[in-house]
Amino acid sequence: MIYRSTRSNITATSAEAVLQGIAPDGGLYVAELSTETLDWKKLLRGDSLQIQADILSALLDDIHGMEELTRRAYAGKFETEELTPLVPVGENYVLELFRGPTCAFKDVALSVLPHLMTAARAQEGVRGETVILTATSGDTGKAALEGFHDVEGTRIFVFYPHNGVSAVQKAQMATQTGGNVTVCAVHGNFDDCQTGVKNAFARINSRGLLDGNPFSLSSANSINIGRLAPQLSYYFIAYKKLVEAGRIALGDSVDFVVPTGNFGDILAGFYAKLIGLPVGRLVCASNANSILTDFLNTGVYDRRREFYKTDSPSMDILVSSNLERLLYLSSGGDWEKVSTLMKELSEKGFYTADGDMMAYINESFRGYCCNERETAETIRRVWEHEGYLMDTHTAVAWNAAEKYRKDSESSAPVVVLSTASPYKFASSVLCAVSGEEEKDGFAAMEKLSELTGAPVPKSLSELAGKPELHRDVIQSGEITDYILQKLKGG
Ligand SMILES: *Cc1c(COP(=O)(O)O)cnc(C)c1O
Repeated sequence: MIYRSTRSNITATSAEAVLQGIAPDGGLYVAELSTETLDWKKLLRGDSLQIQADILSALLDDIHGMEELTRRAYAGKFETEELTPLVPVGENYVLELFRGPTCAFKDVALSVLPHLMTAARAQEGVRGETVILTATSGDTGKAALEGFHDVEGTRIFVFYPHNGVSAVQKAQMATQTGGNVTVCAVHGNFDDCQTGVKNAFARINSRGLLDGNPFSLSSANSINIGRLAPQLSYYFIAYKKLVEAGRIALGDSVDFVVPTGNFGDILAGFYAKLIGLPVGRLVCASNANSILTDFLNTGVYDRRREFYKTDSPSMDILVSSNLERLLYLSSGGDWEKVSTLMKELSEKGFYTADGDMMAYINESFRGYCCNERETAETIRRVWEHEGYLMDTHTAVAWNAAEKYRKDSESSAPVVVLSTASPYKFASSVLCAVSGEEEKDGFAAMEKLSELTGAPVPKSLSELAGKPELHRDVIQSGEITDYILQKLKGG
């Protein structure tokens, strides 16, 4: 399979794309996906791990030994064999993606990415370290650290917004051990971190020498196709569950509602659709940072707006990187057009997608947003009526699902993707259900646990006693120099 950049005629194999993370021209790697890519009906016959292995073998076709690699990557990491359970809640289904080691959906992809990277390094005969640069709004950081710490031949940097993540998210990252990890807070928001990291890619020679030692840069963000490809699996797993439960017949369509930030998770759903999975609508759910809702409704993407810090911080994003891949698809692979739009976004702060592009996008996507009050009210209502406790990100999606149902004529089942454990955002969730203000995330976790009768996930409760190992805070403009200095051993 050939991967092409969204911004020029640069191409790569899948192994090269995984190792590079981002194309040398700043574009994202995309492949042509269709019903020829693999047989989706046959795919559904496998168990969750088999589905994952088959998808990865098809999408990352020149990385070998995928079946063994996949089983090794997930062994003992998730609470259940099925990886991502599907739970009926009220009139919807909740797809629980947070049953992995760091309690967020990023674990599904980041459990396997280090293994993909290691295999690709060996196959390509990469000399020197692969340096993974990661910008995080809170969850990618820990999931990437969990996956990459002490992985031979790699070194990982994580940059997160100072005062922009939950107390538990911060504790998860700041207490991370491992000889190859660097965690650093950045004054600014996620967009500043992401821009700083993208600049570092442009400014640090991507296959450079440092004091005579070779190294190469890569990414653990969903701009890396190796991070995105593993995220298709749970759309198939959910669909399989609905067929098995007799809720749908094979071939019936299913709508998915996705709490969205960088547009990676929802794009994976669109990729599943391109391969043939009967995905009806993909509902893009946003919090008060409703730039994607506006884009889907108007075709204008305008980041010249206020940035809100919300209780769903992993979605506090104004520049959603993966939308670039959808723009590329919607323009029929016109990289010149995509380059122009991306240039307009960075120079003027906005762009307008044309009518043909929006027609393509609107065929599959809908956008809804939800403010802070609605998010809290949704958590409380679903807890009171259904006895199901959801985190703030999932609540944004649940609320969007309700709005979508009102507008939609479709009778297809609605699957709401649940991207984080409620314990991870315990203070906000506790306040939503009981009105109690408990700023200490760990105390809030305990109180939630009393309320639900379910134990706090061990990986979260044990953080309370761990020493903080990472305390650096820098300006976003200092990211490149910070990386270079650390690489030089400073
Ligand atoms: C990362 C994240 C999201 C957003 O996913 P994208 O792929 O960036 O759109 C939503 N919820 C949670 C909890 C997350 O960690």
